[in-house]
Amino acid sequence: MFNIVLFGGPGSGKGTQSAYLVHLYSLYHISTGEVLREQIRLGTELGKIADSYISKGNLIPDDLMVQILADVLDKQPDTKKGVIFDGFPRTLPQAKALKKVLEERGTKLDAVIGLEVPDDVLIGRLINRGKETGRADDNPETIKKRLVVYHNQTTPLREYYVNEGIYLAIDGNGKVEEVMERIVHSLDPIRKPDNSTAAWRLK
Ligand code: AMP
Repeated sequence: MFNIVLFGGPGSGKGTQSAYLVHLYSLYHISTGEVLREQIRLGTELGKIADSYISKGNLIPDDLMVQILADVLDKQPDTKKGVIFDGFPRTLPQAKALKKVLEERGTKLDAVIGLEVPDDVLIGRLINRGKETGRADDNPETIKKRLVVYHNQTTPLREYYVNEGIYLAIDGNGKVEEVMERIVHSLDPIRKPDNSTAAWRLK
């Protein structure tokens, strides 16, 4: 199994890069944001709770989030190959819980890919995404709040994973393909992309 976390601020390219990495390394993609948005679309009780946090730019409480994640892992047989965690963990308690959840399932994290992008670039990307996709939390007020939450609650994870010895700092600025190539390059010593999908690599 090969498990990686894509880590970075809102708009850092986690979802975009996940789409490539899923193909390159034959992994299962878990975006906790997508799981929550699906519940909101379906109008479930969980969706209602999630919406009350997401619309304000706040994080869903850790206990609930960890439970949702463990459920996804257990219900999807595809996760046995390995997982890209996109948007999870976002707090230290979540990171510690993830370690435990993976240990209980006989596996561990292999790498944390940190997409490092300056705030002004993030804001520009999110405003554009809001215009293009109509995503409800991509409005100027909520974006500001999400960045504050990111810096207060999520950035301490960088140091946590540096200490765990699995943090890979990636310059997340630039074209999508360039960033992807940087990720593939930095993962190279740990795991090569599958041959069948090697064509996705840039020259
Ligand atoms: P994302 O699609 O990853 O940007 O997530 C959108 C929103 O979903 C976030 O702003 C949070 O409100 C919520 N969310 C997603 N993942 C998590 C998580 N791991 N912990 C808490 N809240 C989360």
